[in-house]
Parts: sequence; C-alpha cells; structure tokens
Amino acid sequence: MANREYPTDQEAKQLILEVGRRMYQKDFVAANDGNITCKVDDDIIWATPTGVSKGFMTEDMLVKMYLDGRIIRQGDIGPSSEVQMHLRIYRENPEVGGVTHAHPPICTSYAIAGISLDKAIYPEALVNLGTVPCVRYETPGSAELPDTVAPYCRDYNALLLANHGAVSWGKTLMEAFWRLESMEHYARVLMYTGSIIGKANVLSCDQVSELIDIRTRMGTTAGGIPPCAPRPSNITDVLSSHSPMGMETAGEQTIKTYQPLQQRASSEGLALESGLSAEDIERVREAVINRLRGNS
Ligand SMILES: [Zn+2]
Repeated sequence: MANREYPTDQEAKQLILEVGRRMYQKDFVAANDGNITCKVDDDIIWATPTGVSKGFMTEDMLVKMYLDGRIIRQGDIGPSSEVQMHLRIYRENPEVGGVTHAHPPICTSYAIAGISLDKAIYPEALVNLGTVPCVRYETPGSAELPDTVAPYCRDYNALLLANHGAVSWGKTLMEAFWRLESMEHYARVLMYTGSIIGKANVLSCDQVSELIDIRTRMGTTAGGIPPCAPRPSNITDVLSSHSPMGMETAGEQTIKTYQPLQQRASSEGLALESGLSAEDIERVREAVINRLRGNS
C-alpha cells in the first residue's frame, strides 16, 4: 500500500460535498440522515459532521480524523456517531478508499423486510455490486453496529442494515457512491419484477425502548410511541433472501433483555448529556415501558 495514491485534502472535501448533493437529490437521505467518508492517507479520513443535511454542506463543516477515531480538525460540529461504522470498514479492509451510508427508500424497505439482494437478474448489479447481505439489527450509532458489518468488509461491497438503511464502500469514494446508486436501482428492479414487498419486521419492544431512551437523552419527551413486536425478528444476518429473517429464527436465547439506562450509562462510561436527572429518566422509562405493554 506504500505507493497507493490518495486524493488530496482539497479533492476529498470536494468529493464529499458532491456525493452529499447527489445523495440528497436522489432522495437517498431525509433531514440530516446519512454519512460520507473519504480516505486521504493510510490512517486518515475526512468525514461528514452530525446533524447537517448532506445536500447543503460546506468544506469548513467537514471533520478530519485518524482511523482510530482521534479528531485532527473539525468545524463547529463533530462527526456522526455512525462514523464508527466507517472507521471499522477502513480498518477491516485497507483497500477501501471511501464509504457511504444512507437510507434509500427501496433498499431500506428490503432491510426492514430482512431480505438480502441476491438474485442474478441483470449484469450490472452482478458485476459492479454482487450480492448484498442484510445484517442483523443494532441501534443506529451504537457500539455494536460496527461489529455487525465487520465480517463482510472484505468479501462484499455493500450491506443492508436491518430496519435501518444501506452502507457501501469502494476503492474510491465515487466507487462507493456508485455502488449505493446501483443498490437502490437493483432493489427497485427486484421490487418491480417480484412484487411489492409486503413484509416488515417491526422493531421489538426492547429495541423501541432503547430508541426512546436515546430520544429522552436528547431532551425530547414528546413524539408518541408506536406499537412494537414482543420478540425481535431482525437479529440474524440474512445472506440469501431464500431464508428471510422470521420469527422462527429468533430463539429465546438470542433475545436481549432490556437494560435500564443508568446501568448502561455507568457500565459503558457514558455521560448523561440531557439535563434530566437519573430519577427523571427512570420515571420516563417506566412510563414508556408501561405504554409499550399497553397499560395506558
Ligand atoms: Zn443511518
């Protein structure tokens, strides 16, 4: 890799802005979703910041960081928590020069159904992309998410993330983006030629509770809570759509038990960033769980 050519800082920043505009124009992201990174040296990348629309970024917003997560330079805002998934992909596969993550609607629908993209139906998808496994659900931005993508970084070019979205990588950032485009196109053709999907793995009550905890920590207590499934149905990687994730694969032993926020906060060394006291959070959590159980 010593002689490998990387884009300059300036080229990388311009590439990220361009890919962000295309992602936004193509409806691959809503609001401030998605993230983009580009490698500029064996251990250095540029990354998009958190909480910013990818269609309207400027160079001064971008974050320069080492592959171990240390930040070299940033603007007013730090990188997205999902950049950890990008860093893991670069560490697992040194050939990777760029990574894109978005929530393209048709790919995301397949990810929600737990169906991988694996039908040999047209040459471009087969040649440029290959098959796209759907990896098991983890909370977006969590420390576990990088672990779910790690086993696939060398043998595949892209993944569906169950009940979440899509991630792709390539030797260059533009190749990663083309793969994201190809994935969405492939998923669209699969949908048109097969049938409207007609299946969705609903998040389990534990998974919903964790997201409500996150929402509470972000200072939002309004928003309502949708019905949830008693058991998770998205905790198995799907390599072939002939074995879609189903309730039968979710055995008792694989169900995670919900852990109260304070326990997780202390065990993982997380600081509680909202202005709420531990008692407040516990009270909200109890209310959430009661509502999830249909008690109110
Ligand atoms: Zn995401």
